[in-house]
Amino acid sequence: MAGTEILVFSEQPTLLRELLGEARRQADALGWRVGALPWGQAAAMVDWGEAGADVVYTASGIESDNQAEIVVAALAEAFRQVKPRLVLVGATKLGMESASRVAERLGLGYAPWTVSFAVSADTLAVTARCMLYIGIGLATYTFKPGSLILTSAANVFEPQPAPGRLAAVETLTVPTLVPCLTVIERKPKQVSGINLTDAKVVVDIGQGVRQKEDLKMVTELVSLLDGIMTCSRPVASDRDWFPEWVGLSGKKVAPELCLTVGVSGAVQHIVGIRDSRLIVAVNSDEGAPIFNQADYGVVTDLYEFVPAFIERLKARGVRLAWSLMKSPII
Ligand SMILES: Cc1cc2nc3c(=O)[nH]c(=O)nc-3n(C[C@H](O)[C@H](O)[C@H](O)COP(=O)(O)OP(=O)(O)OC[C@H]3O[C@@H](n4cnc5c(N)ncnc54)[C@H](O)[C@@H]3O)c2cc1C
Repeated sequence: MAGTEILVFSEQPTLLRELLGEARRQADALGWRVGALPWGQAAAMVDWGEAGADVVYTASGIESDNQAEIVVAALAEAFRQVKPRLVLVGATKLGMESASRVAERLGLGYAPWTVSFAVSADTLAVTARCMLYIGIGLATYTFKPGSLILTSAANVFEPQPAPGRLAAVETLTVPTLVPCLTVIERKPKQVSGINLTDAKVVVDIGQGVRQKEDLKMVTELVSLLDGIMTCSRPVASDRDWFPEWVGLSGKKVAPELCLTVGVSGAVQHIVGIRDSRLIVAVNSDEGAPIFNQADYGVVTDLYEFVPAFIERLKARGVRLAWSLMKSPII
């Protein structure tokens, strides 16, 4: 039988604070209590009472390791011992992987990418609004009374700091687990070191650029435009030409000008460039989806366009210094 507690889990301290803030707000309205199960980096911190928790759980018997298998064991044990009505899990890679597995294992309700939720004080049914297709749509789910897990991303909920507020500490004894996965080594993720956020001009390349040596041509254009080069995921992850990419699972850019070259315009890529002030797309396929997103489209072979554009810029002696420009380009 589910109790009247909202349990919040995350390994990311900022996200945990945001989720606790929302849990606190809802619990106060319902007269419920809020539990926190801080993990990994967050487990090393102690101010979860001030962030909204009435009780902070520590998992004994296991390492607070960032492995989904261990998180699943801890969350399943929390369900057994605490019987929370609702569990909010931070929608990180670890959180998403763990939450769905716990829900399946325990037969719980589950909804990912929650942007708002409400608990009916009369029926205790939970209604959750959740993102679909990377936020293009929203689905509203109403769950029958019972336990369920919601995941939510960063920057959705507001933290509600209450300085000086204290939380009790309770220990969850998790049965000893021999993980089937052994972590041999952890390496920091390789990054380019280029500040993508401040770039005024981005030349964004896709798989239409055929060979790595063709990057020389694009690099010359990037230099003339005083910009930076970004790429789509397959160019980085499959071809290994760059350490990072732009898009849903990569970085986001918001330049004055984003010139896409040989990029098809998959929605996962568009998410990373859609805040650009002006998008100009070069693609040889007039049906490419990028043209639905671009302000200007050039239907042509990039191997003709890029050298011609370089020649034109050189002929005019144009070298744009975006950082010195006072007014934007449009
Ligand atoms: C969960 C998930 C997350 C993902 N996250 C991301 C992400 O963050 N970022 C991302 O980029 N992708 C992501 N993807 C992949 C995404 O769906 C696309 O597969 C990818 O963006 C396509 O990359 P592309 O446009 O470079 O290649 P393609 O789709 O192969 O497009 C190449 C384009 O180049 C054009 N072209 C070819 N030759 C020329 C030429 N000579 N001149 C001009 N044009 C030419 C073609 O017409 C084509 O439109 C994700 C996918 C999934 C499932």
